[in-house]
Amino acid sequence: MTAVAKVIVDVPTMQTDKPFDYAIPAALAGQIQPGMRVWVQFGRGARQVAGMVVAVNAAADYDGDLKPILAVLDYTPVLNAEGLALSQWLAQTTFAFWITCIQTMLPTMLKIETIKTAVLGPKPTPAAQALLGDRAGLPLADLDEAATAQVLRLVQSGALTLHYARKDRATVKTQDYVVPDAEADYAALRVAVRPNATKQLQLLDLLAQWQAAHETPAVAAVTADTGLVRADLVAGAKRGWLTLEAREVYRAPYAQLDDQPHTAPLTLTSAQAAVTTAIQAAVTATRAETFLLEGVTGSGKTEVYLQVIAAALAQGRNAMMLVPEIALTPQMVHRVKGRFGATVAVMHSGLSDGEKFDEWRRIQRGEARVVVGARSAAFAPLTNIGVFIIDEEHESSYKQDDAPRYHARDVILHRAATHHAPVVLGSATPSLESRARAAKQVYTPLMLPQRINAHPMPTVHIVDMRDAYKRGGKDDFSKDLLDALALRLARGEQSVLLLNRRGYSSFVMCRECGFVVQCPNCDISLTLHMDTHTLRCHYCGHEEPIPTVCPSCGSKKIRYYGTGTQKVEQSLHTLLPEARVLRMDVDTTRRKGGHERILSAFGAGEADILLGTQMIAKGLDFPNVTLVGVINADTGLGMPDFRASERTFQLLTQVSGRAGRADKRGEVFIQSFNPEHYAIQFAQHHDYEGFFRHEMTIRHRGDYPPYYFTTKLTVSHPDEDEAAKAIFSLAAQLRKALSPTAIVLGPTPGAIARLKNRYFYQLVIKYKREPQLDQTLKAILDETQAASRNGFFVAIDREPQNFM
Ligand code: ADP
Ligand code: ZN
Ligand code: ZN
Repeated sequence: MTAVAKVIVDVPTMQTDKPFDYAIPAALAGQIQPGMRVWVQFGRGARQVAGMVVAVNAAADYDGDLKPILAVLDYTPVLNAEGLALSQWLAQTTFAFWITCIQTMLPTMLKIETIKTAVLGPKPTPAAQALLGDRAGLPLADLDEAATAQVLRLVQSGALTLHYARKDRATVKTQDYVVPDAEADYAALRVAVRPNATKQLQLLDLLAQWQAAHETPAVAAVTADTGLVRADLVAGAKRGWLTLEAREVYRAPYAQLDDQPHTAPLTLTSAQAAVTTAIQAAVTATRAETFLLEGVTGSGKTEVYLQVIAAALAQGRNAMMLVPEIALTPQMVHRVKGRFGATVAVMHSGLSDGEKFDEWRRIQRGEARVVVGARSAAFAPLTNIGVFIIDEEHESSYKQDDAPRYHARDVILHRAATHHAPVVLGSATPSLESRARAAKQVYTPLMLPQRINAHPMPTVHIVDMRDAYKRGGKDDFSKDLLDALALRLARGEQSVLLLNRRGYSSFVMCRECGFVVQCPNCDISLTLHMDTHTLRCHYCGHEEPIPTVCPSCGSKKIRYYGTGTQKVEQSLHTLLPEARVLRMDVDTTRRKGGHERILSAFGAGEADILLGTQMIAKGLDFPNVTLVGVINADTGLGMPDFRASERTFQLLTQVSGRAGRADKRGEVFIQSFNPEHYAIQFAQHHDYEGFFRHEMTIRHRGDYPPYYFTTKLTVSHPDEDEAAKAIFSLAAQLRKALSPTAIVLGPTPGAIARLKNRYFYQLVIKYKREPQLDQTLKAILDETQAASRNGFFVAIDREPQNFM
């Protein structure tokens, strides 16, 4: 009887979304464990793919001849038992393929690339010969669609054969070290060296010192400090005086922060102490309790997180803290690294693949004990976790829009149950869902109602933009905001200006005929990028030059529309010529370290005004900022989304919180065309609880979350009729299967009806309790995806954050 490995292969389709049995060859017996990547042959033909071993059994469930595992790609498992179980849970709860979930959990560098090459035979034809020319093989990756189709036809007729090879992208960085010979008598060797060979003498002296001190210095350090060059060391190695040893080093993204002295914990205020004690009690009791920490901006939530983490570490356990991507500012990293140093691993999308891989390995090897990261860090292979923290828990960026469509909060709550550890959800503006759960005591409510040192909240002025121009406003600025900016300049204080980009983009339109330049592949207008002087599609990446004449009517009156940050920056230069402005948006932060550079320049007082998009709203703590201006508060209110008011309230509250955090009083100006809107009114008064109650009545009236659950179903197909037919039949099927209290909204065309040349239709199910729903949806997936050869894609999104 052969031992059998159950393998999930890297072929993401419905038919292959289950483990397949492979024989473990005698040579690999005992070596293969669950959580290791393997290389196997799959299906008929020569196709070879990577896979993940999810179980090892003594005997097969299948009694035909089993194919053998061809190679093992890992020495130790890359997913532990918790990780494997988590990947399976993720696949079930998000309706995603298991292999997709596994890949989401692992660093990109561990994804094995399959390289397909077409070679001649077994029945070569002149056409096949001509296609190859004098090449031995034709890599398929280099071919366009038409050429690929031709190759595949030739493969079917036997004129060509496909070859499969694998490419492992994981690279380990090494650095050379000087290892003195422990036995050598360097003093004796010195005597034999000519007196004018000064480099050799110097090297022998150094070797004697290192030998005595048991040191093995890095080559780079030696050449930097001693005047010796690498060639001197290589020559020494040839003489047998030393060996050069390549050792693995980590690409450490924040190494410069690791050697600084740690910051001391602050003396907690009594409010902070009360919440910290409550959380620490759950850590000590290993109780998977969920806390909702509602604390106004500047109330000292971060200090609470740090002290809770310290408590877990003191008990020999580890800690995980999630922060929204855009709040993962250098300031936040500095605060956590500043307290815990090199034991902190940081994971976010700004790191290179190599850095991410190395941080992941430090966690996996138990060398990092605190993980700070954005959404996907929820999957970090940290073990023995004593506490989980999610800062700004209301942020929609915790939900992934693509498969697997998971919410990091759900992943954390699931892991917390496994680890018997508490979860802290922190926010100044909790999501309605979480706040409602706290009201029902599903989560334990904790409050920090005041700023540290009883600093007052900033005064918020709402500026009615409907008559702003009559009252002396210019460009996008009211006179009130301009005067406030000028006052800060005069006082030498700093200002933060937010341009709300939600639901808004800059585009190009003809003034004569109204023509708007659109993407040829998607039903959406192209966005203007001044830095590259191009128009770009944010969905498919299509890029083209900015037209100078209208492609539709030939008029030269084709103009830019909308208020981009660049345009606001230009107006600032005209209106306040003496102001030094720093701009922070996708264009200025695209390059690595862009965030860091802008923020440290602002922190160092090199600018008077920081102008930016949503990314400036969070986590910034600059004592000299006394003014926050919001240029366009309500662009997001018009979005066709029941969370539009909630998002606007959250954004305005967060950005207002950047003002007056230290001793100087803060002031906020919110420019709005809807000054009476309740989201703006409650934000003006820092009244989260008021907003919560008001918004809950609206949600109740409209049968929306948190009163109802929602699930979105999207169908797409290259042919519009096919997509429409499919969604209407699915809607009918669902209406029949669900209880009368469930509501099916739609079907409707997607907000962007055509994307990358596929047509999208969607429906939304609202429901309270539907025990059959998961089964029905799974059945729908099975049926429709079986037809995926026919070009259908079905996506199921539980609790979508985006209804577009
Ligand atoms: P939040 O995360 O709630 O917005 P922070 O943790 O950033 O608030 O705290 C706001 C400011 O107060 C920071 O500058 C922080 O260093 C300071 N702070 C926090 N806790 C204390 C404390 N116990 N004593 C003194 N200063 C504190
Ligand atoms: Zn496009
Ligand atoms: Zn025109």
